[in-house]
Amino acid sequence: MEALLVVNAGSSSLKFQIFGIAAAGPERQIRARLEGVGTRPRLTATTADGTQLIDRRFDTAAVQDLPAALSIARDWLSTLRGFELRAIGHRVVHGGPDYVRPVLIDAPVLDRLASYQDLAPLHQPNNLAPIRLAMAIEPDVPQVACFDTSFHRGRVEHTDCYALPRAFYDEGVRRYGFHGISYEYIAGRLCEVAPEVARGRVIVAHLGSGASMCALKDGRSVETTMGFTALDGLPMGTRPGQLDPGVVLYLLTQRGMSAQDVSDLLYHRSGLKGLSGMSNDMRDLLESGDPRATFAIDHFVHRCALNAGMLAAALGGLDAFVFTAGIGERSAPIRARISEGLAWLGAELDPAANDAGASIISKGGSRVALHVMPTDEELMIARHTLAVIRAS
Ligand code: ADP
Repeated sequence: MEALLVVNAGSSSLKFQIFGIAAAGPERQIRARLEGVGTRPRLTATTADGTQLIDRRFDTAAVQDLPAALSIARDWLSTLRGFELRAIGHRVVHGGPDYVRPVLIDAPVLDRLASYQDLAPLHQPNNLAPIRLAMAIEPDVPQVACFDTSFHRGRVEHTDCYALPRAFYDEGVRRYGFHGISYEYIAGRLCEVAPEVARGRVIVAHLGSGASMCALKDGRSVETTMGFTALDGLPMGTRPGQLDPGVVLYLLTQRGMSAQDVSDLLYHRSGLKGLSGMSNDMRDLLESGDPRATFAIDHFVHRCALNAGMLAAALGGLDAFVFTAGIGERSAPIRARISEGLAWLGAELDPAANDAGASIISKGGSRVALHVMPTDEELMIARHTLAVIRAS
C-alpha cells in the first residue's frame, strides 16, 4: 500500500502515524507514540481499529533525548511490512512571516525554517530534527512541512502586531498565533457537519496541555489568543498564559533570574502546575479535593471566559463556540463552567447532553450553539502532504 508518514515531534513525546493513500484521500492505518522521553520512555502503537501493535517501555538512560527517540521510532518503523512510503509530513510549529501554507522541503527551505529557531527555541529544533534525519536516510522521499502559524497569517495587519516600534514587526516580532493545524481541521469539519455555523462567528477553544482560542469568521482566523510565542493567552498545563511583561522585567532585574531560569519558569513551572503546586494535568486537579487544585481550575475557567469575551468582541458577536483537544473533548465539568461564563453572550448549556459527551451540548433555543469536536491534526497534515506532493 502507498503510504504517508506523519511526524509530530515535541520536547517529551514523538507522535507518528501512517496513512494509506486512497482515492478519497489519506486513510489512517497506524497511530504510534513514544512518550516520556527523558523520564519514562514508552512506545505504543495501534492500528486504526485499535489493535495494539506494541507497548514497550525503555530504560530512561536509553531514551534521554529526541535523537534517541527518533532512532527507536525508525527501527520500529523498519519492521513494518506492506507500506510503500510516498512522503513524510511534519508538524512544524513556526512558519515565520513567510509561510502561509504547507511547503515541500528542500535544503533552502530547511535553512529558512532553521532561521525561525530563535522565534520558537523550544519547539522548532525538535520539529526539524526528524526532517534532517529523513533527508539523510530517505533522500528520495519528499517531505512536507505544515505550520501551526499558517492558518493565522491572513489576519489584518493591525491585529497581527504589538504596539512596539515598527522595526520590530518588520524583523518578525508579530502576533503569529499557534494551533493553526487544529483550527484548520475544525473549520473544515464545521463546514461538513454544520455549514450554517461554519459561515458565522465562531470561537474554537483548543484546550489541551497547550491551550488557545481562535475567532473564526467564515472559516478564517481573525483573532487568536497566542501571539509571538506559544506562551501567551490562556493558562496552560505548565505555561502561565498572558502575563504583564513587567513581571519578566521584575524577575530579571529584582530577582536576578537568568534568561534561562525565566524561560524554565514560564514554559515548565507555571500554569496549572505552578498554581496548584500539584499537577499540570486537569484530570488530577478535578479529582483532587485540595483547595490549591480548585484555585488553579477557577483561574483557568476565569481566563477562558475572559478571553472568549475578547474574541467575541473581535467577531462582533458570537454564533457558536467549539470545545476541542484533551480538556475540551473530555472534560464535561470544565465545559460546563466555561459555558456558564458564556451565558451573557446567549449560550445555554444542556447539562445532560454535556455529561453524555454529545457533539452539540447547548439547548435547542440557545442563541450560541455549543459544540464538542475532536480535533485531528495528524489527518490535516496527511491531507496537506498528499496535496503538496500531488501538485509538485
Ligand atoms: P497535547 O496538548 O499534549 O497534544 P491533549 O490535547 O491530548 O494533549 O491534552 C492533554 C491534556 O488534556 C492533559 O494534560 C489533561 O490535562 C487533559 N485531559 C485529558 N483527558 C481529560 C479528562 N477526561 N478530563 C480532564 N482533562 C483531561
